[in-house]
Amino acid sequence: MSLKGKVALVTGSTSGIGLGIARALAAEGADLMLNGFGDPAAIEQERAGIAGSFGVRAGYSAADMSRPDEIAGMVADAEKTLGAVDILVNNAGIQHVAAIEEFPPERWDAIIAINLSAVFFAMKAAIPGMKRRGWGRIINIASAHGLVASAQKVAYVAAKHGVVGMTKVAAIELANSGVTVNAICPGWVKTPLVERQLEARARQEGIGVEQAAERFLAEKQPMLRFSTPDGIGSLAVFLCSDGASTITGAPLSIDGGWVAQ
Ligand code: NAD
Repeated sequence: MSLKGKVALVTGSTSGIGLGIARALAAEGADLMLNGFGDPAAIEQERAGIAGSFGVRAGYSAADMSRPDEIAGMVADAEKTLGAVDILVNNAGIQHVAAIEEFPPERWDAIIAINLSAVFFAMKAAIPGMKRRGWGRIINIASAHGLVASAQKVAYVAAKHGVVGMTKVAAIELANSGVTVNAICPGWVKTPLVERQLEARARQEGIGVEQAAERFLAEKQPMLRFSTPDGIGSLAVFLCSDGASTITGAPLSIDGGWVAQ
């Protein structure tokens, strides 16, 4: 197991892509700090399940990624209880779909806080420890929407382009510190975040959810199938490996050909 002895903090890991990444890192032996919202009993079951199945230490932080003080507290908590944050995966994210003139200002603020500013505050808190230890991996979950745009997603596209930019800045600043910083840019992945969009489209167009999924894929993703949380977890594991030690500042697409068009 390649990550034995390392500690990973994965934000938004109670669901979807974050959970897939957390499980993939734990399968390689990394100790984990989970984070995200949800039913406390279900989160505890997931935490204990990961610890038991993979034989790793697993903690949980309920920190709200829209709150800089709670982000700093979460990193400090991981360093205190698990000994370090060697791998930081900034994954927590939300979506809102509306045209600019109808976009609610409070949704703009929430998306910028959670999808963009949280990445800055978590990196700011975790980098000093990584530099001290001379090793670190920062993986920012951006999106195909970090590289290209779609209508109706102004806050999300602005935030994800910002994440790609921030990733490059951090990579340059940390180039000779043993810390790499990369962005993963998924296309469609069927998670609760996307299921809500599928259901909304099915309602609007009077079609089934399966048909809405086919239309989503046909519009954007030449490979007419979803990427999976497991697949994104595998890419995260690779980025933590020695083989990836000179990959830094890169936006890595895992999108079935979305941005190749
Ligand atoms: P999801 O809704 O399944 O999971 C989101 C996670 O973030 C959950 O654990 C949730 O509790 C957590 N979260 C939300 N707000 C939070 C907050 N304020 N504080 C702490 N945790 C919070 O969504 P997902 O699809 O797995 O998305 C994960 C990441 O992947 C997001 O950054 C998203 O933008 C990105 N992404 C998703 C897709 C896709 O197709 N699903 C594509 C590209 C990028």
